[in-house]
Amino acid sequence: MNPIVDVLIIGAGASGAAVAWSLAETKMRILCLEQGDWVRPGDYPANGRDWEARLWSDFALHPNQRAGMADYPVNDSNSAMKIANYNGVGGGTILYSAHFPRFHPSDFRVRSLDAVADDWPIDYATLAPFFDENDRMMGVAGLAGDPSGPPREPPLPPLPLGKTGERYARAMNELGWHWWPSFAAIATTEYDGRAPCINLGHCTPGCAQGAKASVDITYWPQAIRAGVELRARCRVREITTDAQGMASGAIYYDEHGVERFQPAEVVVLACNGVGTPRLLLNSTSSRFPRGLANSSGLVGRNLMLHPWPQVVGYVDDALDGDHGPMMVLCSKQFYETDPARDFVRGYMLALTRVTGPVNEAVTSAAAGRLPWGKEHHRIFRRLYRHRLVIGIGCEDLPEAHNRVTLDPVLKDGHGIPAPRIDYTISENSRRMMEHAIARAEEILVTAGAANIFTSRTVLNTPGHLLGTARMGDDPARSVVNAWGRSHDVKNLFIVDGSVFVTSGGVNPIATIQALALYIADQMKRRLASLFD
Ligand SMILES: Cc1cc2nc3c(=O)[nH]c(=O)nc-3n(C[C@H](O)[C@H](O)[C@H](O)COP(=O)(O)OP(=O)(O)OC[C@H]3O[C@@H](n4cnc5c(N)ncnc54)[C@H](O)[C@@H]3O)c2cc1C
Ligand code: SF4
Repeated sequence: MNPIVDVLIIGAGASGAAVAWSLAETKMRILCLEQGDWVRPGDYPANGRDWEARLWSDFALHPNQRAGMADYPVNDSNSAMKIANYNGVGGGTILYSAHFPRFHPSDFRVRSLDAVADDWPIDYATLAPFFDENDRMMGVAGLAGDPSGPPREPPLPPLPLGKTGERYARAMNELGWHWWPSFAAIATTEYDGRAPCINLGHCTPGCAQGAKASVDITYWPQAIRAGVELRARCRVREITTDAQGMASGAIYYDEHGVERFQPAEVVVLACNGVGTPRLLLNSTSSRFPRGLANSSGLVGRNLMLHPWPQVVGYVDDALDGDHGPMMVLCSKQFYETDPARDFVRGYMLALTRVTGPVNEAVTSAAAGRLPWGKEHHRIFRRLYRHRLVIGIGCEDLPEAHNRVTLDPVLKDGHGIPAPRIDYTISENSRRMMEHAIARAEEILVTAGAANIFTSRTVLNTPGHLLGTARMGDDPARSVVNAWGRSHDVKNLFIVDGSVFVTSGGVNPIATIQALALYIADQMKRRLASLFD
C-alpha cells in the first residue's frame, strides 16, 4: 500500500492543476493521479507539415477516434453533440483554443432573472478575485474596458486583430453591434518563461511555441516546485470509503497496469463533466449502492454541452486564413435575455479565423464548392484565406434527462465501465440557435461575404462538459455545497466543470479555474474544521 497523503487530486487538467497549485502553499502532502502522460512540445503536430491530418488521428478531438492508451471510450451515439476532450497532463487545455471569456454576473442568477433552471449558491463577486488570479497564472491577453461585463485588467496586451479582425470590426460598426477583441490565454509578449505567439496558427493541436497557456506549462511546474507530486499514467478505477462513510482513498492502475491503493485524508475530483460522474458512478459500495455522493440521484444528470452552430462565408480579398490564433473578436450583443425574443438567456458570437488548407479543401469538396479536376487549384485559391467563420456559443439550460450514465457493455483498456451520453438539444436552445444563425449571416453579408452556409452542430466541438454534479445549498437538489464539498461525503470535493449549475453562453474554462481556486481557498480557510 502507498503511504497516505493529505490530499489526493484525481485529474491533472484545467481545474486539477489550479487546485494543486493553490493548496501547495499549505505544505500538505498532495498527490495528483492522472490517467494520461505528459505531452512533449516537440511531439505536437505543429512541428510537422501533417499537423492537420493528425487532428484526425493521435490528436483527434474525439476520444474514440484518438483511441490512445490514456483515452477511455465514450458511447455518445444517442447524443445530438459529440464529446471532445484530451486525457493527459493538461487535460482539455492541450487541445483548447484558449478563448478566455468569463461568465457574466447574470449567469449566476438565471432563476431570479428568467424563472428557469436554478441560481448558483455563489455570485460573480465571490469569484472575481479568483478570476483575476487565474488570468495572471494563465497569462491572459486582452483589452481592458469591455462594456459588456464587469471590469477586467488582463496582464498582457491583446492579440492583433489582423486583416480578418479589421474586416469583422468594420461590419460590426456598420451594424452598431457590440464587439471587443477576444480575451485569450495566449502570451502576446514574453510571460513567465513563455515565448510570445508568432501567429503560426495550429493552436488547437497544441502550441509548440509555448505561447498558448496549457496548464502543463502554467500551473503544474509551479505546483511541482512547491512540493506537489504528479503521477502520470495512473488511471483511477474507484474512490473507496471507510466504515464512517468517509472517502479513504482510491484504487488505481499504475503505469505498468498494476492495481494499487492510494490512501488519502481528502479526495478532490477534477476529471471533467464526463470523467467525474463516471468515477462516482463506478464507486459503489453497500453504503452507496447508487454511486458515491449520489443520494440526490443527480450525479450524471443535467449535462450541458453548449450547442455551437458555425456560419461560414467567403470574401473576395485574401484575409489571414489560419495565420494566427483562431479567436479574433467576440460579441455579446445578444448575450442577455430580451423579452421580445422567443427564448430566454442568450449567446456569444465568436468571430474567428479559420483552420488550415486541408480543412478548407476537405470541407469545401464535401460541400460541393470545390471541384476535382483542372479547376481544383484555381477555385481552392479563391477559398483558402477568403473564409470567415462565426461560431455561436449558446447557453444550454440544465435538463435532468441529459445525462452521463455507465454503459452496460463498453469498457476502457483496464476493464472499467465507460460513460454513455444521452443528450438532446432543447426547444429553447433551438430557437436561440436560429436567432443567432440569422444574426451571424447578417454580419457576414455586411462584411461582404457570399457563399454562406451553416452547420447547426459541429462535430466534436466545443468540448464543454458541464453540470453533472452541480453545486447548491439543498442536498436533495445538488451534489456539492457552495464550496465544492460533497453533501454526502464530507472529505470529498469536486472542482471541475461538473459543478456548474448553469452553463452561461461563453467558453467555460476561465470560470472553471476561478471556481477551482475559490474552492481551494475555502478549503484552506477551513482546514481546522474541514469535516465538521
Ligand atoms: C478541442 C477543444 C477546444 C476547447 N476550446 C476551449 C476554449 O477555447 N475556451 C474554453 O474556455 N474552453 C475550451 N475547451 C474546454 C476546456 O478545455 C475544458 O472546459 C476544460 O479543460 C475542462 O477542465 P476540467 O478541469 O473540468 O477537465 P479537463 O481539463 O478535461 O481535465 C480532466 C483530467 O482528468 C483526467 N481523468 C479523467 N478521468 C480520470 C481517471 N479515472 N483517473 C485519472 N485521471 C482521470 C483526464 O485525463 C484529464 O486530464 C475546449 C475543449 C476542447 C476539447
Ligand atoms: S498561433 Fe500563437 S498560440 Fe497559436 S500555436 Fe501559433 S504561437 Fe501558439
